[in-house]
Amino acid sequence: MTLKEALQLGQGQLRELKQELRAKAEELRELNAYVGFEESGDGVPVLVKDNISVEGWPVTCGSRILEGYVAPFDATAIANMRRHGFSPFGRANMDEFAMGSSTESSAYGPTRNPHDPMRVPGGSSGGSAAAVAAGIALAALGSDTGGSIRQPAAFCGIVGMKPTYGRVSRYGLVAYGSSLDQIGPMTQNVEDAAILYDALAGWDPKDSTSFHGVYEPVASKLDGSRKFRIAVVDDYIDRASEPVKKRLWALVDELRREGHTIIHKEMMDAKYDIAAYYITATAEAATNLQRFDGVRYGRRADNPLNLANLYIKSRSEGFGDEVKRRILLGNFVLSSGYYDAYYMKAQKVRRLIREEYRAVFADVDLLLMPVTPTTAFAFGSKKSPLEMYLEDLYTISLNLAGLPGISVPVGSDDDGMPIGVQLIADAWQEQTLFDGALSIEQLVH
Ligand code: GLN
Repeated sequence: MTLKEALQLGQGQLRELKQELRAKAEELRELNAYVGFEESGDGVPVLVKDNISVEGWPVTCGSRILEGYVAPFDATAIANMRRHGFSPFGRANMDEFAMGSSTESSAYGPTRNPHDPMRVPGGSSGGSAAAVAAGIALAALGSDTGGSIRQPAAFCGIVGMKPTYGRVSRYGLVAYGSSLDQIGPMTQNVEDAAILYDALAGWDPKDSTSFHGVYEPVASKLDGSRKFRIAVVDDYIDRASEPVKKRLWALVDELRREGHTIIHKEMMDAKYDIAAYYITATAEAATNLQRFDGVRYGRRADNPLNLANLYIKSRSEGFGDEVKRRILLGNFVLSSGYYDAYYMKAQKVRRLIREEYRAVFADVDLLLMPVTPTTAFAFGSKKSPLEMYLEDLYTISLNLAGLPGISVPVGSDDDGMPIGVQLIADAWQEQTLFDGALSIEQLVH
């Protein structure tokens, strides 16, 4: 059942639906997509990533350090969603503090890909993606700092959308990289994504970075028949693995036959995106995660020797390895002597990335590229953190530029693993983004 169909149900039917979802989720427990079965409200159920605050629910961010913490308020995205007839239903597993691309780093253990339990679902919103793909959630909320909505959506064969920075309030989202984070919808199809996105978006006085203007809903105006000028960067597509590359070039041909105009563009080597992102995101993360000191939130170490030891012990016991690595990296790039060499330089590269996108969107409506270099990989196959970071090749520049992007399933490889395509639009052009995504969805179905 789609989200759109569920919005038509009466109270009794909704209660039955929730029971069914819960029973099915219990049956598929080995997927480890849900880490909690909380319910709040009687609207259409939407699964919520474990870093978005829901009043009265624990928020753990997949970390031991937040054990025992219960949110005293709703995130604005949750409050908005409630007004549109949706209710938070269940907690989705995630990489600890949304750092990762595989959902292997959660304190609750890894989530499995419903298409092949030996493979990862992607991350960090892996629980959200796996649950929607397995049919144990109608739709889910994810958060995207560098690809965490789009990449797991691609690995699990669902739709995942990251809004323009500032479109959805970040109030109540546990901060990872504050200048990059956005909450967005993860759904079975493009129309549901547009419906849920409309329910989340809008100005919020509690988030000074949220866009202060009248919000124009997109779902009621969805149009899959519009013809667009679509940019492709040959080198980006050619760099992907064989099945992804083959599928995307075939798709480009199909789009051309459908009457879209394909325009070949050049963009700078994506390796600079990775460098700029992992400096910026870790710097922001190290700063944001200072608040988890064992005193203000969640878990506190037993028998500390003194105050400094309480901080050190609580943080050492509470954070996992990847989070610790990021805190070390972030503090390093911000430290005196290295600030100019790393952090400042990354901000300059960020500016270049933004300008490059601006130039591309001067004469096209959409940019098409892979979401991920490969289809879902096997557990444990990324041997070093750097290998994992390279997974984000195609997804992170959008966050650095603040642009909206969407991942749409377009087929699968010989092993039956889903392949996604990514569309990117200029800032605030979500209508164009969804219309383009719908035309691709109609083309591949
Ligand atoms: N994989 C990226 C990271 O680990 C992106 C994560 C995200 O978008 N939250 O930082």
